[in-house]
Amino acid sequence: MTQEKSYLIIGAGLSGICVGIHLIENGHQVTLIDSGKNLSSIIAAGQINPLVFRRMTKSWRVDEFLPYAEKFYTKLESDTNLSIYCPIQIRRMFSSAHEKTMWLEKQNRPDFSIYMETITDEDDTYDLAQNDFGSGRIKRSSYVKAAQFLTGGKEWIKKHGTVITQKMNYQELDPATGIYQGKEYDGIIFCEGSENLSNPWFGNLPVEHTKGQVLTLTSTEISQEESLNRKCFLLPIGDCTFRLGATYEWQTNDTIVTNEAKDDLLEKFQLLSQKPFEITEHLAGIRPTIPDRRPILGKHPDYEKLLIFNGLGTKGYLIAPLLAKEFVDFVDGKVELDREVRIERFYK
Ligand SMILES: Cc1cc2nc3c(=O)[nH]c(=O)nc-3n(C[C@H](O)[C@H](O)[C@H](O)COP(=O)(O)OP(=O)(O)OC[C@H]3O[C@@H](n4cnc5c(N)ncnc54)[C@H](O)[C@@H]3O)c2cc1C
Repeated sequence: MTQEKSYLIIGAGLSGICVGIHLIENGHQVTLIDSGKNLSSIIAAGQINPLVFRRMTKSWRVDEFLPYAEKFYTKLESDTNLSIYCPIQIRRMFSSAHEKTMWLEKQNRPDFSIYMETITDEDDTYDLAQNDFGSGRIKRSSYVKAAQFLTGGKEWIKKHGTVITQKMNYQELDPATGIYQGKEYDGIIFCEGSENLSNPWFGNLPVEHTKGQVLTLTSTEISQEESLNRKCFLLPIGDCTFRLGATYEWQTNDTIVTNEAKDDLLEKFQLLSQKPFEITEHLAGIRPTIPDRRPILGKHPDYEKLLIFNGLGTKGYLIAPLLAKEFVDFVDGKVELDREVRIERFYK
């Protein structure tokens, strides 16, 4: 039995919610505070793709992350009675003959065939998108409805703990004792996403900002059967509505939507569909990313009670649930963290 402890979590995005749920499941008290202004989790298309198309490799630790994520989201869905987790096939329209060759080399290997369909004549002649080199279909791909997940996750935590809308005032925290606004916590866990930059204790870590823009389209003529992918993604989200995304912009910190990004996405869209559509929304967000493409988890080197869970990057919805479980088990002293995510790699 784990001894009950009390934790303050800063940030109710994907990170803070996954960590909060696991802390409660391990028998702890949770207070979750969030400024109410989310820059990433709510903007995300929430796609879960077990492959990395560029190199046609498996996503990092996907064999562990994927089954856990599937269970986690479907349980939250049934606990909250909200529609959160949506399996949908991804069809990759190959960008080159080389890409198709890479697929063919892997599709029958037991470690890949769990995620890749064998290419058929129909895939080669698929004609709803521009088909220059054929296409391949992914198994076990899905998307998480971000807004429902965030609402459901906060509701779930509220039932078992406390959720407060408030920007944390760093000056009111004593890092040595873990006292915040007069209450002592056993741990303060920062899940601030890209806003980590202004954190007095962890702001020196390389949580970089990768801006992303997405469009929401409506069309009664585009097929809603599959999520299409080539240079961009076109994800059907029901009711003749689609997310088209996403851009990757590195040299900027703002969340301003730009015509340049819109034009770029619409040009790429032409590869996936020539059907008429309307643009109903244009959003921009910031992905918290780490230069070595691994999250940062762990304890502050000087203050035992301060912890961080950040840097989920582009595959956040796939990796967050199991990483949060491992993080909470680490906080409880049950396991070591995966070497690749440890904060210590930046404190040599
Ligand atoms: C355009 C775009 C598309 C994406 N598409 C996908 C996708 O398809 N699949 C996928 O897996 N991932 C995708 N991502 C990435 C994914 O969104 C992130 O990996 C993930 O959401 C990061 O979650 P987070 O909780 O760490 O950060 P955030 O979502 O940024 O949450 C941090 C929270 O902390 C709060 N906060 C920060 N500082 C304070 C403070 N001092 N006091 C109080 N509250 C504070 C903020 O208000 C915020 O709510 C996408 C991201 C973008 C921008």
